[in-house]
Amino acid sequence: MRPKKRVLLVEDANFFTRVISNELEKCGRYEVATARSFEEAKQLLASGAFAPFMALVDLTLPDARNGEIVDLTVAAGLPTVVFSGRFDETIRRSILSKGVVDYVLKDTPSSLNYLSDLVRRIDLNRSTHVLIVDDAPVDLSVLRQRLERYCLNVLMASTGQDALQILTERPDIRLMLLDHGLPDMSGFDVLSQVRRMRGVRDLAVLGISASPTPELTAKFLKCGASDFLAKASSPEELILRISQNLNQLDRIQELKVLANQDPMTRFYNRRYLYSEVDLLHARLRNEGKSLRYAMVDIDRFKRVNDQFGHDVGDWLILEIAERIDELLPNTALAIRMGGDEFCLALPDTDREACKALLSSLRLSMPLSIPGANDDSMRPTVSIGVSDGTEATLRDGLRAADTCLYEAKRSGRNKVIMASEL
Ligand code: GH3
Ligand code: MG
Repeated sequence: MRPKKRVLLVEDANFFTRVISNELEKCGRYEVATARSFEEAKQLLASGAFAPFMALVDLTLPDARNGEIVDLTVAAGLPTVVFSGRFDETIRRSILSKGVVDYVLKDTPSSLNYLSDLVRRIDLNRSTHVLIVDDAPVDLSVLRQRLERYCLNVLMASTGQDALQILTERPDIRLMLLDHGLPDMSGFDVLSQVRRMRGVRDLAVLGISASPTPELTAKFLKCGASDFLAKASSPEELILRISQNLNQLDRIQELKVLANQDPMTRFYNRRYLYSEVDLLHARLRNEGKSLRYAMVDIDRFKRVNDQFGHDVGDWLILEIAERIDELLPNTALAIRMGGDEFCLALPDTDREACKALLSSLRLSMPLSIPGANDDSMRPTVSIGVSDGTEATLRDGLRAADTCLYEAKRSGRNKVIMASEL
């Protein structure tokens, strides 16, 4: 299990400490330590025993009534979010000038959701890379400061060519802020080229301009921008729009994973095989490398279901998936074809290594089935393996299937390689 990430909460009212801690801890990713006063927070941070990645602080504490807590957590290098029962323009300006990330009003139920989304976003931002493209040094520096305050990792470019170069080299960049007037090319031209490399589901692009017009906004969006913003927008609006766009990319990513995953074993599913592995096959064969497929099928699995029930059948599928997971090298992929059949894709693996790996898998099956009282139900698998040089994915799967069929026909519980037929 991954270690929980720590959040420092400085708040004196029991009601708020309880609801905020519950809200943050319910997802299982975060652990909250509460300090009920300025002094307690100071001691906790000085002790070093609890190393938080950020702080949520109440502006008014019994021993520090004027927001001194913000100076403490900001000086400790912690991204700090302030909450308070009251905000006016003076308070807003004063806390933003102290370098806090954001502020949240305590008294509305929706602010609790906002706060927990904010914590998650700041946490994710720490590993998120953003490219700012602008030729005005002052604008670059202001934007950079605002984004870094929000824990984003910032890269900068001042020409269209630089931006394209950086994007080619850094596929981990997830969001780009793009000024429309650049010295070497227009923002629209940059955007058109960017979209040829990176689609809207992969990279968010926010058009920005010092002098926006309705035409400019529309043109940016038509060229493939995800959003558009005037440079004069408030820091809050900038950050909210960036968050919305990043959240949307995260959701698309989550859906993509789910769409390509077998829910039971968490292996890839057929859909992934026929889309991504198909592409991988073509690429490896182009490079002159091999891609072998091993079809692994449980022997007489139907009997297990019939005699011991579907739950035991499911248990066996998961046991075998676990063994595949343990034995498979990092470069290989496991796909659940459906039912009791798995397909393993083994890139650039020679015949002997492949045979040794699959023989180990065959010999690693569980020794018995829960509830069985003799050895006759001992689980086994049959495995058929393609040659690896087939031109297409479909040819490779067909070759592996033929070998699997032969393994079943000739008595089961064996590995048959294409060259052995
Ligand atoms: P063979 O040795 O020839 O492979 O025989 P078999 O009994 O393993 O093959 P068959 O294809 O006849 O049976 C596979 C069974 O797997 C039929 C189906 O009801 C069952 N099955 C498919 N999906 C699942 C699942 O997710 N869980 C369980 N428990 N059973 C499943
Ligand atoms: Mg079977």
